[in-house]
Amino acid sequence: MKLVFASNNAHKLQEVRAILTEHEILSLEDIGCHADIPETADTLEGNSLLKAQYIYDHYHCPCFADDTGLEIAALGNAPGVYTARWAGEPSNPAENRKKALRLLQGQANRAARFRTVITIIRDGITEQVEGIVNGSIALSEAGDGGFGYDPLFIPEDYDRTFAELPAKVKNTISHRARALQALKQIL
Ligand code: IMP
Repeated sequence: MKLVFASNNAHKLQEVRAILTEHEILSLEDIGCHADIPETADTLEGNSLLKAQYIYDHYHCPCFADDTGLEIAALGNAPGVYTARWAGEPSNPAENRKKALRLLQGQANRAARFRTVITIIRDGITEQVEGIVNGSIALSEAGDGGFGYDPLFIPEDYDRTFAELPAKVKNTISHRARALQALKQIL
């Protein structure tokens, strides 16, 4: 099946194509979509639905979209849906990580999780799946792999951050990998 993935992020496209091997995955670029798709909802579910719905309404083809948040328990699950721009506009990963360390200074509870919600729309039918990886926020940054909050996030059952772990490990246990596995199950 041809499926449009509402993203142009090369890293994500590679992950998606590696997992959904039986399907042809088209990017926004591939379908000539250059729109700035609104992400104005206040939940991950809402934003992934907005993105998928936009593509379905404009291009009338099977499509899916993802949205990810980092949820830190001691901060009431912040930044959640505001993960990308937590330290302000434009999105600045280094400042975001500094903010997390600052707000957790002296905090014993460093539990956190990444959560990805994927919305798929086929023949007008909408379905959502999610993927979660539990873990904790390190006391300081470590590693130079990955992106975003990876130098701070230590997945459960490991003692190194996502940025220190081999990409192959991260791409097996990550929130996005788990959401994509759940998507594969329903396809
Ligand atoms: P998005 O919804 O996938 O664009 O993710 C929102 C934000 O979450 C990104 O800008 C990153 O800061 C963060 N994020 C998402 N996935 C990861 C990851 O695998 N590692 C670290 N940070 C991530």
